Amino acid sequence: MLPKMFQQAIPVLEKIERAGYEAYFVGGSVRDYYLNRPINDVDIATSALPEELKKIFRKTVDVGIEHGTILVMDQDSEYEITTFRTESTYKDFRRPDKVEFIRSLNGDLERRDFTMNSMAMNVKGMIIDPYNGKRDIDDRIIRTVGPPKQRFSEDALRMMRGIRFVSQLGFALEESTLKALSENVPLLSHIATERKTMEFEKILSAPFKKEAVSLLIQTGIYKELPELIRYPEALECFTETSNIHQLNKEQAWLLLLSFMAETNVQAFLKKWRLPSKMIKNRSKEIQILKRRESSGWTKSLLYNAGLEAALNVEKVYCCIHNLTFSSLITLEENYDRLPIKSKGEIAVSGKDLMEWAKQKEGPWIKEELNRIESAIINGIIINEKEPIRRWLKECNQQ
Ligand code: ATP
Ligand code: MG
Repeated sequence: MLPKMFQQAIPVLEKIERAGYEAYFVGGSVRDYYLNRPINDVDIATSALPEELKKIFRKTVDVGIEHGTILVMDQDSEYEITTFRTESTYKDFRRPDKVEFIRSLNGDLERRDFTMNSMAMNVKGMIIDPYNGKRDIDDRIIRTVGPPKQRFSEDALRMMRGIRFVSQLGFALEESTLKALSENVPLLSHIATERKTMEFEKILSAPFKKEAVSLLIQTGIYKELPELIRYPEALECFTETSNIHQLNKEQAWLLLLSFMAETNVQAFLKKWRLPSKMIKNRSKEIQILKRRESSGWTKSLLYNAGLEAALNVEKVYCCIHNLTFSSLITLEENYDRLPIKSKGEIAVSGKDLMEWAKQKEGPWIKEELNRIESAIINGIIINEKEPIRRWLKECNQQ
């Protein structure tokens, strides 16, 4: 039986077929199905032109009509349906701006990047595989559809996609694909940073990052990624670290940053056009990691970090020092034992302080609250109004 994702979409394909056109599942979902991996989303390809599709379905949205993609709403689900197309004219080693619609499935499969991504499946679950994707999957090989040099010069991002699939699947790049990749690295300079970042982050998220980052070094691709040209040793250290397959994207970034000893982490990450929240979090974690290295986890370090950052830092620390992850459990227990988790939980307010001291508002309140916060975290006072008031009184009498 086909996975649920496909089953749900079958009526959509059947509707297109009833109108006299062809429709297939294509791309990643067919690959993942054949690999017995979970399917994220299904892509549908059809011989119907976008205008023809709009006549078949009542609710559609033009999401990428110039590339032949429309969004079809069917019951509670949405499906991206793309008209068979070729990409005959490539400009500047990037994906073409203009595409040509065609009526043949084979032509559409031919423009796809790797053999494993160039399979289609019909509503009956039959796989159409003119480029031997199944054979290459069985052999755990990533191979371009057609001559690799040509395919990489059409769209240089495919080189990074190839390495990203290494990281996700643990497959090897086929020999001539790898050779062409090494020889065409400079073409990546034409690709937008955002697209390269997206692939790099997928490399860091996936289990075979050691193998994939080794390939980035071996092929020289790292030189075409923001700022990495300055850090070949950091990348080497990264690949030599044990247990990195267990790190998520955030932790993998942190590990890499730790090997770079970069003084301006923010500026470095900005070059990658990463979201500001991600930049902020990694910059904070790198500081926490330094303190964890120099003086271990104190209560206030743990409190200031927050649980998520603390666990990221500790996991990376364990990798760097070749330790098991058992300290993560203790760390979480210690975090749970902290009497407060944030300033908002302090039992007294600025208003209380003004009343007790009979003083007006001012910067002193913030200072006083910081002092109280630190005393609570370190177990010097309990987090209740009256003990805090007494403690303040005692302090001020000294
Ligand atoms: P994922 O599981 O990450 O979504 P995917 O293979 O589905 O992987 P997508 O980027 O969603 O990757 O692309 C869908 C399909 O479109 C691919 O399987 C491939 O057939 C084709 N494709 C995507 N990008 C390219 C490209 N740069 N050149 C050629 N074909 C591509
Ligand atoms: Mg996909």
